[in-house]
Amino acid sequence: MTDHLPTRWRDHGLHWHAHLSDHATAAKLRRNYSPDAVLLDPEAGAEWIADMLTAHSADTIAIEWHTPWGVTLDGPGVRDAARDRHALAYGLSVEAMIVTATGQLYLYVDPYTPEQCPHHRSQAANTI
Ligand SMILES: [Zn+2]
Repeated sequence: MTDHLPTRWRDHGLHWHAHLSDHATAAKLRRNYSPDAVLLDPEAGAEWIADMLTAHSADTIAIEWHTPWGVTLDGPGVRDAARDRHALAYGLSVEAMIVTATGQLYLYVDPYTPEQCPHHRSQAANTI
């Protein structure tokens, strides 16, 4: 399968912070939180999302995606990793709410340039 991903993420030197939370959070606040995972390319981002869904799939009822194309609703086991990769490569964030038998989980993957990132700014400066 040929996957023609946008190169926008590479042009901007983006990386992503991934968060899994039991409550909804605002992007502005998440910036100050330590990420659960730091993802360096769109494939890694899509993989992290897939891993999280797999980890919680036993009690997943529905997954609500917030993509640039609007909100889509997936049933358990129905998802589209290519869509995640594409959104991330384009420099967009991916958000999903997972409704489980015991409550809700919020999954966020936020893009940052090295300058925007409060955690990795110094690292980025060192590599230049
Ligand atoms: Zn960072």
